[in-house]
Formats: sequence, structure tokens, C-alpha cells
Amino acid sequence: MKLARYMQGGHIRFGVLEGDVLNELVRTPFNGIEMQGRTCALDEVELLPPVFSQKIVAVGLNYRDHAREFGLDLPDEPVLFMKPPSALLAHGGEIVYPDMSERVDYEAELVLVCGRECRDIEPREAGSYFLGYTCGNDVTARDLQIKDGQWTRAKSFDTFCPLGPFIETEIDPGDLAIELRLNGEVRQSSRTSNMAFGPAELLSFVSRIMTFYPGDVIMTGTPSGVGEVHPGDTVEVIIEGLETLRNTIVTP
Ligand code: MG
Repeated sequence: MKLARYMQGGHIRFGVLEGDVLNELVRTPFNGIEMQGRTCALDEVELLPPVFSQKIVAVGLNYRDHAREFGLDLPDEPVLFMKPPSALLAHGGEIVYPDMSERVDYEAELVLVCGRECRDIEPREAGSYFLGYTCGNDVTARDLQIKDGQWTRAKSFDTFCPLGPFIETEIDPGDLAIELRLNGEVRQSSRTSNMAFGPAELLSFVSRIMTFYPGDVIMTGTPSGVGEVHPGDTVEVIIEGLETLRNTIVTP
């Protein structure tokens, strides 16, 4: 199932995508969710990021090929940082190149979406806590990351967290091809099986630190081949089994 979040007639709605048609989802009186029967065409709505998260937890240096590229050892536990929800950007939206930076990079990442409140779980229990998976781009002002010595400013500019287009609920995330294309050219190419810490381990680890709520997400780190973008560029995150996430870079 492909889940979408979108704006239609001034309202934010959730829906299931079937072909080019969105079937609206509504909450029922007994806290269930059902399809309302109202439908609309995908090209008639404005797509939003598929979740509006309280928390966007991201993982640094989680691909073996990316660690090799920088000559670094893999950490013995996941290295976490956070991006603010105000950085979220929909598929098709414009990433604004900030005045403060002279080096902005793309980072293609698989994104895990939490579906149930989750605290202190074991990796073997993690499967039932995922709602699904989507594409993300952990856009980073690399010069500011190095200058600041920590990552908050570099990772947090508005529009620095493109996510989407949809949440895919029926996919095994263990060994998917992941790719980034810059203006159509392949710049990153790996498989999610190259992650040092897989989805179940990551959710378990994070849940031992903070309660995770439905809609919270984990960005699982990026493979080798990170590089810079410039205004006018188009970046695409392409993950096997998911719809492609495409964004353009613009000046402020
Ligand atoms: Mg990253």
C-alpha cells in the first residue's frame, strides 16, 4: 500500500494511492481508520511530505562503503543526530541554498516511518512498529558541519529534509538498491544491505533513548558518493520498490 499526505481544497488529507487515484482515509469513531470512498486524481492535489514528524532522527556513518570512502572506522553504536520538522520538504519542492553556506551536499537515504508508540523494544519486535518506508535526502551544509564541530546548523535549514513521495507499507527494507542521481547522472549507488545497523536495530536503539510516536522517522544514513549541489540542479533519490523523490535546488 502507498500512503500519501496531500493538500486538497485547503485541507490536509491522507490517502491510499491506487494507480493515479487517491482514496481518502479518515479516522472512525472507534479510533480506527477507513477509506472514506472519496477519491481524487493524484495530479489534482498538492503532495505534502508523507508525514509531519515530531522527531526526525538521523544516523551518521551507517554504510560500510561511505565509511571506507572517508577512511573512517564504523562506530560500534549508531551515531545519532536530529533534524527539525521545519526542514521537511515535499517531493517536487525546492531546496533553498542558504546564504550562510558555500558547500551544500546531497545524501540519499532510506527513511523508516514509525506507526505505533514505541519505547524500549528489542530488535526482534521492531517489525510491527514500522508503518513503512520512504525516500529522504539528508541535505547538509558541509562547510558549516566542519566549522561548527557539531551538526545542528548544517542539517537544519528550512527545506533540508526532502521526504517522500509516499510511504510504502509492503516492502522488506533489508536489501534494496539505493541511488542518487544529480541532473540525471548516477552519483551514489549501493544497497541497504551495506548498512552497519539495519532498520530493526536502529529502531530498537532509538527506542531505548526516546519514545517514538506514529509519524516519527529515522533517516538511516547515506552510502558513498556524497557530493555537492548548485542552484539549478535536480536531485533524485531512487530506492528499489519506492517511488522516486525529486527536488530542485534554488537560490534564496
Ligand atoms: Mg545523512
